[in-house]
Amino acid sequence: MPATPEIGMVVVQPTAFCNIACTYCYLPDRSNKHVIAQSTVTRLFEEIFASGWSCPELTVVWHAGEPLVVPVAFYEEAFATIERLRPPHLVVKHSFQTNGILIDADWCRLFKQWSVGVGVSLDGPRELHDLYRKTRSGAGTFDKTVAGIRILRANEVPFHVISVLSKASLDMPKELLDFYLSEGIDQVCFNVEESEGDHVSSLFHGPALRQRYAAFLKTFWHEARRNGGVRFVREIDLALPRVFRPEGAPVRNIQVEPLAMLNVDSHGNVSSFSPELLGLKNETYSDYLLGNIHLNSLAEIHQACLASPLYRDICEGVQACSVACDYFSVCGGGAPVNKLFENGSFTGTETSYCTLTQMVPTDLILEAYDRLERRWAEGPADLVSPPLFPSGPTAAQPPRMP
Ligand code: SF4
Repeated sequence: MPATPEIGMVVVQPTAFCNIACTYCYLPDRSNKHVIAQSTVTRLFEEIFASGWSCPELTVVWHAGEPLVVPVAFYEEAFATIERLRPPHLVVKHSFQTNGILIDADWCRLFKQWSVGVGVSLDGPRELHDLYRKTRSGAGTFDKTVAGIRILRANEVPFHVISVLSKASLDMPKELLDFYLSEGIDQVCFNVEESEGDHVSSLFHGPALRQRYAAFLKTFWHEARRNGGVRFVREIDLALPRVFRPEGAPVRNIQVEPLAMLNVDSHGNVSSFSPELLGLKNETYSDYLLGNIHLNSLAEIHQACLASPLYRDICEGVQACSVACDYFSVCGGGAPVNKLFENGSFTGTETSYCTLTQMVPTDLILEAYDRLERRWAEGPADLVSPPLFPSGPTAAQPPRMP
């Protein structure tokens, strides 16, 4: 753990409000239309840049509820402020996670001007997407989201999609791939429907989930690589450098480092660790809040974090993971929020979430690499068939066993 914070990501909730009402949404405050003030953005980034704790490349994620319900003009002003405050040696990269419904040419102009990373929540073809992603009156949102994606493509704005996998879609990897290809979607991320906040997933507690998800991901990964039309599968492509890494290089888990993820709501309240904790209520952990950016310096917030029961219990959970789990070297102790929701405590270890996001991808990568090594012995032509590791291991980077 670094002696001083290394802030890698700032997650800002410009508003808790969302314009739709997905049935699996866990956000408790999604009807609250309060919008963050420009003065809060200014104060936040003055503190971050003055602290000297920012990583050389700082990602700012505008997320939760729906960030595009706040007008383009708001972000133009906020981005200009951050740019004015930014020390010249730092790079700031903005990113949005959106349901895509409000995307138009003005948004595309903003995205392009500031090279914004855009993620669109889209659960696949209509029959999958409209099962859960609904308007406040209960209608499906597929047509509106796909319209947004087509506007992004028409304006040549790069984007990825995040698809929540449900009971039905877990059995449909090829159908999902065909759908992404048909819509020109070449970067995809999967989230399995989780139990978070008030939402209880029926899927997460099924005994066969690990096997079903492994089968899904393996088929999708291999078929996507074979086809070549989808160039980024987050679950594999972000796991590859964690599994194959230089000797002695530690894996960083910013969800367990104090202030490595700085999460700020529309009132300036600050939390750290898993961003999903921000907005949840809890007496023991003071609603997971560490201070308010209008009332406290970042140094004070850091001290509050180090002294908090929240940090103490997260550390205990990481320590338990380091002793108990064969995957610790690629995971670094997991996602505190999922330990809390699934196990009722930060101090435990394994969750369904970490099984799916850490163990399954690691197993699939090592299994494929083993097969590749066996084939390699038979002749170099087999190295590229199929090209499962486009940016991954070479003979000089042996796999690091978890
Ligand atoms: S995979 Fe799960 S049990 Fe293992 S280190 Fe990560 S969170 Fe802990």
